[in-house]
Amino acid sequence: MAIQRTFSIIKPDATKRNLTGKIIAKFEEAGLRVVASKRIQLSLAQAQAFYAVHKERPFYDELCEYMISEPVVVQVLEGENAIAKNREVMGATNPADAAEGTIRKEFALSVGENSVHGSDAPETAAEEIAFFFSGIELVG
Ligand code: ADP
Ligand code: MG
Repeated sequence: MAIQRTFSIIKPDATKRNLTGKIIAKFEEAGLRVVASKRIQLSLAQAQAFYAVHKERPFYDELCEYMISEPVVVQVLEGENAIAKNREVMGATNPADAAEGTIRKEFALSVGENSVHGSDAPETAAEEIAFFFSGIELVG
């Protein structure tokens, strides 16, 4: 498996509770390297566009409102098999189902306020990185 890049968001419930460093430590312990990072406040239009894939789901409005409730930290993570590795470190969407030691098991509050987003495939990783980062921010 080659070196990959994936896209990550440290979500509002986590930034609000000052857990950014603890979550980044989990990525680093798993062999993922932060190669781009910024703390931003999403607009509603940006949250809606980012989560457009979920627009027919019953939780879409709640999800978008939540994602703009506090700043988020958007990041590009790099490493061996980074897309799957990140999903593994994140744990299941619902923290009640997440494995011991995962970010969501340790930090998530609920299925909605679940502390992190991570890309689920190479195509979405590429799209999501491009949504938030320009080429000049991705050097090295
Ligand atoms: P994941 O983030 O694990 O890839 P999904 O892509 O299915 O999960 O959902 C995107 C996000 O929508 C979740 O991380 C969570 O914040 C929110 N979400 C998912 N399911 C629910 C639900 N049943 N109720 C409220 N929010 C949800
Ligand atoms: Mg998803």
